[in-house]
Amino acid sequence: MSDTDNEKPKLGMRAPLGLKRTVETGKVKQSFSHGRSNTVVVEVKRRRILGKPGEADAHHVEEVQAAPAPAPAAAPAPKAPAPQARPAETSLLSRQELQAKLLREAEEARMAALEEARRREDRQRHEATEEEKRRAEENRKAEEEAARRAEEEAKRAAEAPAAESAAEAPQPAPAPAEAAAAPAAAPTVKTDDRHPAPRKFTPVAPVKRPEPPARPARPAKGVDDRRQSGKLTVNRALNDGDGGARARSLAALKRAREKERRSHMSGYSQPQVKQVRDVVVPDAITVQELANRMAEKGADLVKSLFKMGMMVTVNQTIDQDTAELLVEEFGHNITRVSEADVEIDVESDVDAEATLKTRPPVVTIMGHVDHGKTSLLDALRGTDVVAGEAGGITQHIGAYQVKTKGGQLVTFLDTPGHEAFTEMRARGANVTDIVILVVAADDGLKPQTIEAINHTKAAGVPMIIAINKIDKDGANPQKVRERLLEHEIVVEAMGGDVQDVEVSALKKTNLDELIDKILLQAEIMELKANPDRAAEGTVVEAKLDKGRGPVATILVRRGTLRVGDVFVVGGESGKVRALINDKGQQIKEAGPSLPVEVLGLSGTPHAGDTLSVVENEARAREVAAYRQQLALEKRTTSAPATFDALFSALKDKQAIEYPIVVKADVQGSTEAIVNALNKISTDDIKVRILHSGVGAITESDVTLAKASGAPIIGFNVRPNAKAREIGEREKVRFKYFDVIYHLTDDIRSEMAGELGPEAIETVVGRAEIREVFSAGKHGKAAGLLVTEGVIRKALKARITRDDVIIYQGEIASLRRFKDDVAEVRAGLECGVTFTQNFTDIKPGDYLETFEVELRERTL
Ligand code: GDP
Ligand code: MG
Repeated sequence: MSDTDNEKPKLGMRAPLGLKRTVETGKVKQSFSHGRSNTVVVEVKRRRILGKPGEADAHHVEEVQAAPAPAPAAAPAPKAPAPQARPAETSLLSRQELQAKLLREAEEARMAALEEARRREDRQRHEATEEEKRRAEENRKAEEEAARRAEEEAKRAAEAPAAESAAEAPQPAPAPAEAAAAPAAAPTVKTDDRHPAPRKFTPVAPVKRPEPPARPARPAKGVDDRRQSGKLTVNRALNDGDGGARARSLAALKRAREKERRSHMSGYSQPQVKQVRDVVVPDAITVQELANRMAEKGADLVKSLFKMGMMVTVNQTIDQDTAELLVEEFGHNITRVSEADVEIDVESDVDAEATLKTRPPVVTIMGHVDHGKTSLLDALRGTDVVAGEAGGITQHIGAYQVKTKGGQLVTFLDTPGHEAFTEMRARGANVTDIVILVVAADDGLKPQTIEAINHTKAAGVPMIIAINKIDKDGANPQKVRERLLEHEIVVEAMGGDVQDVEVSALKKTNLDELIDKILLQAEIMELKANPDRAAEGTVVEAKLDKGRGPVATILVRRGTLRVGDVFVVGGESGKVRALINDKGQQIKEAGPSLPVEVLGLSGTPHAGDTLSVVENEARAREVAAYRQQLALEKRTTSAPATFDALFSALKDKQAIEYPIVVKADVQGSTEAIVNALNKISTDDIKVRILHSGVGAITESDVTLAKASGAPIIGFNVRPNAKAREIGEREKVRFKYFDVIYHLTDDIRSEMAGELGPEAIETVVGRAEIREVFSAGKHGKAAGLLVTEGVIRKALKARITRDDVIIYQGEIASLRRFKDDVAEVRAGLECGVTFTQNFTDIKPGDYLETFEVELRERTL
């Protein structure tokens, strides 16, 4: 024992001992039966008022360990030697030996008594006759008497040699007496009371310590009972705490035992055989999830927590330490896992080279506005041989895959522009393998072309230059190549290694050559993935669909995603209910580089989130809960901007604000629009986005816009009925777009005061879809009731669901009672089919016919 240890303050060292420096404080000589001795530091424990049971246990163990007990005799009862050794002058050696012997004997007697009592109790439980009870009573009294006598002898022996310590010495002694007395003291109470320690967890005790007599000799102190029980429980610790005084009265002990019995009777009263489980607990876990893992009732856990002074509901998250207390209280074993164990380790999960198979490349198209990105995407989509053959209709799911004439597959991300690309990259989703940079041959390099180049370079993604509009007069492809040199892009024709191709998206010229170059680039890159593993993918787009629930378009990165797979995606989890490809067909599985719509999510994830298939739902929930917790922490710890700071900043800059409210159909669009709008701000005028969100334009959007004199931008969404009504009354401007660059161009010119013509949309008629039936080669037909205005066949038409546009096109046929008609008025029923066989119609959707008129702006 080192000196430094001695210098540490030891709780209650002097006073209770009362040795008055007859020995060196805190250090005593210890003697054992065969003349061996040992010097130890004595730590006298005062009973503490325990704040937290877990802590108490920790101190306890710590302190026991602090006292070295090399002699075997000391081992079974580490506390016992201390009181014996206290009067430890060498002259007292023989007396100490005697004393130790007596104590041992007393202990043995007590153990025997306990053992006997236990057996008796067993008997009693089986055949509890009055006769036996009476006998038992007598036996117990006799044993108790014997134990007490032995104890007293020991006491006398201890008292005799050191009169001055008499007041203190008996202190440790009463405990065995009490322990022995306890059974006797409560004969009228339930038999359970006799030895609560081993029965503390009746259901599990046999598993943990099947033979009570086999345990080490009971230390001669009440406090140690706690350790003896093998488990520290909240109730026990609390009960110990309320004892306070060192020598508890018999009555106090009785009361405590009774209290303990009552509390765990009410807590869980199933003495049946109960399974001990190994419960895996992460850093944080909800009470319900913990209950599930323990196979206990959530309410029981809540009750236990309540007793610990924690008011929580089953849905709340508790920390690992609290979880441990619960797990142990319920008699299970805890297996702690750290954060790293909870999170899915994508990084180190590398597939073996042998498992890798070639996968299709994922391509993103970038370029300046109006250089033909959308046109090229559409033209490339048209090259799909499958779409032609099977008559599959393309559906906007954020990405699509084409099968080339040679049979190879290429996946295109349907969100052109570097904003969306970088937004995804910012989220750690580098899904693009190849970028096609579209440059109009008649227009050359423009600011957004250069931005796109920089974004692509920053991502380290190879580029293919598509020089578009070569059909146009004034097209100068060579000039484009030369200008590219300024940005360190050297195309092959100029001796570099960047592929370029002259195309016309309009005339569909050289599209095959472009595809060949994509395939060549992909081949060079050796794009591979293991298809035979649990799937992993990236969210390209996600939305909340009223009819289908949360829907995410996933681009599978590796593995194969199958219907029925359990997964976690961002902070959401789920089970694949259905997989729908870009042609609107239900499929059973999706391999690497295939974009699919996934149904069956618990909520809407974010674009760029990773989807991982996991082994079971518990695991999925655990990871999702963990991520949500992290997200919450991140949100709550980021310093909020104060209003004062915000206003002073605005005042300093003196910039004019252009307020806007933005609503879009999907999260990805909202983000892209917000970013694009922020970028068109200048020093003099700034876009201020008052609010941005996903879904129909609502009343509250209109109110907000009205208050700030802001227009509302609807990107593929429209106002709901109430919002429309208020908007008309309050003269709030609605601006509708389906192309981001049209939106930014419009806002930019409006901000610059260039008031070009404004497109004003007028809804001519609205009809509710009542029934949907199959109409053979026309896909689906719908039975409608016209609710407002006139449905006119010649006008543009669209279908909205919760005011989000899900289809835009033309009406193929409009009928009333089998007759083709040109229009149907409000209050009448009719049937329609559409020009494209659009299948995703549901009763409750709305059909609208509308007109768009360009009007000169007057502000
Ligand atoms: P984006 O803004 O980059 O998506 O460009 P769009 O695809 O919307 O095209 C802008 C305009 O250029 C449209 O009017 C297209 O018809 C036109 N356009 C696109 N590709 C070509 C082409 O190859 N030749 C010609 N002459 N016009 C094209
Ligand atoms: Mg476009």
